[in-house]
Amino acid sequence: MHKKKCPKCGRQYCELSNYCNKCGIALVKNDNRCSGNKTTQCSHKAFADDDLYCDYCGSLTAYALEAKERRGGDK
Ligand SMILES: [Zn+2]
Ligand SMILES: [Zn+2]
Repeated sequence: MHKKKCPKCGRQYCELSNYCNKCGIALVKNDNRCSGNKTTQCSHKAFADDDLYCDYCGSLTAYALEAKERRGGDK
């Protein structure tokens, strides 16, 4: 699944974590961003969970890239 982060301190956590070690507040899911960031528009856009490609530069979205890496990483 998708990585999470603390909305207060910005610390990154894996999907299994639910609360920040430092702040004790609930983590939020990372936005689905462009993985390539090849245009200035990319970084401003948050994609839907099921969007696979950035419509600005054609790169995979973060969620799609993560899913791809997960499939490739299985041994
Ligand atoms: Zn925190
Ligand atoms: Zn892009």
